[in-house]
Amino acid sequence: MKTRSQTKTEKQPKQKSLNDMPVDAQCPCGGGQSCLVDRRWLGDWCPEDDLFNKLNIPLRKSCIQPYTLEQEMALTQQSITYRWNQ
Ligand SMILES: [Zn+2]
Repeated sequence: MKTRSQTKTEKQPKQKSLNDMPVDAQCPCGGGQSCLVDRRWLGDWCPEDDLFNKLNIPLRKSCIQPYTLEQEMALTQQSITYRWNQ
């Protein structure tokens, strides 16, 4: 299953750029394609945010924040096997 869409970035200017992000809003992980904070900033879809929103579970503030038990259980139940950090 493909979840990434890399085809639409060529011609349309992005509404937001990571360069616009204030330093204090940046993720402690340093950012990257799978960074929660970066993806939220850019308006990219975050699978775990989507899931947690559906279940009314608080979102992680950054991708170095450990999952709560509640979040872990939700992810496990959804069989989401990706890892944001490796
Ligand atoms: Zn991050």
